[in-house]
Amino acid sequence: MKEEGELVADVAKMYELQKVDLTWEKVRRRLGQIKLLLVENDELRAQRQQVAASEAEIHEWHAQQTNAELESASLAGRIASTQQRLMGGEVRNPKELESLQANLEALQRQRSLVEGQGVEALLKVEELTARLAQEQLVLQQLEEKWLAGQKVLIDEETKLKRAYMQLKKQREASAASLSEDFLKRYEHLRQRKGGVAVAAIQQSMCGACHVQVPTGVASTARNPEGNLAICPSCGRILFAG
Ligand SMILES: [Zn+2]
Repeated sequence: MKEEGELVADVAKMYELQKVDLTWEKVRRRLGQIKLLLVENDELRAQRQQVAASEAEIHEWHAQQTNAELESASLAGRIASTQQRLMGGEVRNPKELESLQANLEALQRQRSLVEGQGVEALLKVEELTARLAQEQLVLQQLEEKWLAGQKVLIDEETKLKRAYMQLKKQREASAASLSEDFLKRYEHLRQRKGGVAVAAIQQSMCGACHVQVPTGVASTARNPEGNLAICPSCGRILFAG
């Protein structure tokens, strides 16, 4: 008699686990739907891309400006040393002096060219930075608008995520209360039966397939006598409730 009692209790535990699993599955599915519904709209995505493109462009011009500064500094050094040689009095050969002079002028032209490029890059950075600020503002407004429209969904998602974690804990506790053998049978059946391994008998019918449960099976469900009551129609474990 003690064993029978334990079996009845185990079916009840299994049925509890089933309820948790069904709710958990529903929550999981709804979270998946919400994830799809929360996809950003085209306008918002395009604006986000625009901001990223502007940021990349600024980065590029900033690098050009830095390069121009470095090159200008290096040219300044070469100009100074050429000037030193010209003025130092060591070089007296007119041809050589002429060549040094030409060299100096070429370096100076080069430096003013590079400096012009640096200024151009700097202006571009300033212009783009102002544009970026504007674009970021638009992006922020679009995000706020989008979020406001999605608020109901986001709130639901937050609640469901919390419920998901609670159900996960509940599931672990519920599964731990079952014997290993029962848990295995439950999992095996659940996989084969569309996620439902245990069905309650409701008004003499199987709660899952809604076929009338023979009286003999129903009495086994009420008093398992060492055997589990199985629905002859769908093969699920029956719980007398
Ligand atoms: Zn059935």
